[in-house]
Amino acid sequence: MGLGTTCIRGGYAPGNGEPRQVPIIQSTTFRYETSEDMGKLFDLEAEGYFYSRLQNPTCDLVAAKIAELEGGCAAMLTSSGQTANFFAVFNIACVGDHVVASNSIYGGTYNLFAVTMAKMGVEFTFVSPDCTDEELAAAFRPNTKAVFGETIANPALTVLDIERFAKAAHDHGVPLIVDNTFPTPINCRPIEWGADIVTHSTTKYMDGHAATLGGCIVDAGRFDWMAHAEKFPGLCTPDESYHGITYAERFGREGAFITKATAQLMRDFGAMASPQSAFMLNLGLESLHVRMRRHCENAQAIAEHLAAHPQVSWVSYPGLAGDKYYERAQKYLPNGSCGVISFGCTGGRAAAERFMKSLKVAHIATHVADAATCCLHPASSTHRQMSEEELAAAGVPGDMVRLSVGLEDAADLIADIDQALNS
Ligand SMILES: *Cc1c(COP(=O)(O)O)cnc(C)c1O
Repeated sequence: MGLGTTCIRGGYAPGNGEPRQVPIIQSTTFRYETSEDMGKLFDLEAEGYFYSRLQNPTCDLVAAKIAELEGGCAAMLTSSGQTANFFAVFNIACVGDHVVASNSIYGGTYNLFAVTMAKMGVEFTFVSPDCTDEELAAAFRPNTKAVFGETIANPALTVLDIERFAKAAHDHGVPLIVDNTFPTPINCRPIEWGADIVTHSTTKYMDGHAATLGGCIVDAGRFDWMAHAEKFPGLCTPDESYHGITYAERFGREGAFITKATAQLMRDFGAMASPQSAFMLNLGLESLHVRMRRHCENAQAIAEHLAAHPQVSWVSYPGLAGDKYYERAQKYLPNGSCGVISFGCTGGRAAAERFMKSLKVAHIATHVADAATCCLHPASSTHRQMSEEELAAAGVPGDMVRLSVGLEDAADLIADIDQALNS
């Protein structure tokens, strides 16, 4: 079935007389006839639910839809995108291990890796998404356990050469993890290009209405953990906290990664999506294919308009002919990239600040990927602690505006942008 059909029908197929909409199973716990029945669940010998800190039926139905959309074979929801990326990495890399990551990633993920996970003893080497094959190969160490990147980076809008990063990861016997938040599976399916694990902040386009925080991890089910058993003892040797189960043996390539992340990380951290949030996310997913097309059409029209505007000094948008990432976007994102554009105001920082003040339709918000257009001046908000030199070095110059184009009528957005630029 096509992706549009999967957006609506994936994951959940109601039987005769059953609810059309995914039922919200708002229950922390589940009842059993005997303790033996429940014991089998605890030993992962039978499938079923016992406590919503680990797994909940509503969340699983929605995760199954996202797995279908991405072409993966197992998935789990998490309470946020941050949790999805933390779990995806921590599931295979712990103290003493090392990960190669693109340096062009979401600021929250960079901090998670470079500060918080560093405190847990996981070391990261950050490489440019545009590094040479030699530079990429040189980043690997004997204790490297994964490679991480974003399909389209937030907010830099760099496009990852997924095939090349997947090959480098596989040549070194480790999986590639790709955060596919910005394009969503409607515009790119990283698994088709060699990614092994795909993560999402579902808070963005998947929810799409600035309503519900969440994340998701999808496993392609292709990485052969047992072939690299010495690198992945957590998957390939017995887990004493689960009566000696060896995940990669018992659940195979298809089930090992998500089962371990559920049984160990979700059990111990409890960063679960709530059933209510999963239900809201599913409403967003039902229109994802329609909304992504409109986000991209609007953004394309606005990017082209901005590129021709005398008050705009530069525009960055992967769908814009002449953009640094245009060719790569044509390969990986032929049907559209995302709705986020960044651009510079002629006249620098002061002009950008005046532009922001003059907007009447676009909201000023840190959020992106919302039905409502929102706009951010990083230098005076998210990055305000940085000096002009630091801002330039971080690729967030003072003249830069980040625009997340929503689903309003493009003509209204363009009129709003024009009056603000001309002010
Ligand atoms: C927002 C975002 C995250 C973090 O997700 P939250 O849901 O805010 O925790 C991770 N990766 C990318 C690419 C994002 O845009």
